[in-house]
Amino acid sequence: MSKVFNFCAGPAMLPTAVMAKAQQEFVNWQDTGCSVMELSHRSDIYIAMAKKAEADLRELMSIPDNYQVLFCHGGGRGQFSAVPLNLLPQGKSADYIVSGSWSKAAAVEAKNFGDINTININQDNDISLSLLASSDWPLNPDAAYVHYCPNETVNGLEINTIPETHGVPLVADMSSTILSHEVDVSKFALIYAGAQKNIGPSGLTIVIIREDLLGHAQIATPCIMNYKTSADHNSMYNTPPTYAWYLAGLVFQWLKELGGVKAMAKVNKVKAELLYQAIDKSDFYLNHIESQYRSKMNIPFWLKDDSLNDKFLSESEAAGLMALEGHRMVGGMRASIYNAMPLAGVQALVAFMAKFEQENKS
Ligand SMILES: *Cc1c(COP(=O)(O)O)cnc(C)c1O
Repeated sequence: MSKVFNFCAGPAMLPTAVMAKAQQEFVNWQDTGCSVMELSHRSDIYIAMAKKAEADLRELMSIPDNYQVLFCHGGGRGQFSAVPLNLLPQGKSADYIVSGSWSKAAAVEAKNFGDINTININQDNDISLSLLASSDWPLNPDAAYVHYCPNETVNGLEINTIPETHGVPLVADMSSTILSHEVDVSKFALIYAGAQKNIGPSGLTIVIIREDLLGHAQIATPCIMNYKTSADHNSMYNTPPTYAWYLAGLVFQWLKELGGVKAMAKVNKVKAELLYQAIDKSDFYLNHIESQYRSKMNIPFWLKDDSLNDKFLSESEAAGLMALEGHRMVGGMRASIYNAMPLAGVQALVAFMAKFEQENKS
């Protein structure tokens, strides 16, 4: 099989250079004679690598010193439970902004652990898909925290300004947008992200938490979900996902070599604009999301004639454009174009779409 461009939403494509490096040192890492995945997480050489990965992430995101970075198990959904367990004391409630399927799932899970106030901000109408502006969110000033999802992976909806919560701790599920553009971490109480979209392989979840929020977990919190326990043990209370941590470290180095998050954001903008232009200039393809809420990472689009969906999918795959099928909840197509997707991949997709339109328009 020749080179393909993989548009999967997650697990998603990794930078080729990173995989080549991992392959080259797979059986003999740093002259140990072992694979990194065979080494103790308590060995000096592993700890040095783990610390370097954290330092690189801190540098890439300009994470302030009063934040802890945790390397956890359990994925995004693990955090759907961990966040209320750690941050929602008895007698308080938390606000959950629902803008799409992931933020909804987070709210549903959180209800198992406390009093949750769900705020639906979808403003659906027939022509465009839009959201209630964050300045109009009916937030509870006494909430323990506000949870939202800045990039809805399934729906292709992005909230690209940081909501003002007037001192209420802000929690963000950044699973599909972390490291894609610069964010001011100091505006957040907690940021989490499953690794398999924009960082590395699945199995690793990054949590960035302001230190004053540690140590208030509900009594029933499992120890491996307790942020304080993790922080006190440098994310090694139990065996961390060692290989995924290592690979994430390689991705962080790759990002730094390319100029960091700022440089990445520029390319991501170009990629997204190219694809949205291709969709908007044709009436063969559609995306109804209001432009200010369009995701730069996950771009859904629909063929006006959806009887052509199967043909589009089989021909795009034959052309080396993989995994363009939309999520089963929304149908149509979806192109996930995370950091690892080169501009050439989007150019190839846009060229294919034009050709397919030519050949199939009625
Ligand atoms: C993929 C995803 C999740 C779920 O992640 P898992 O690691 O599968 O639990 C949660 N939130 C968002 C925004 C996602 O994209």
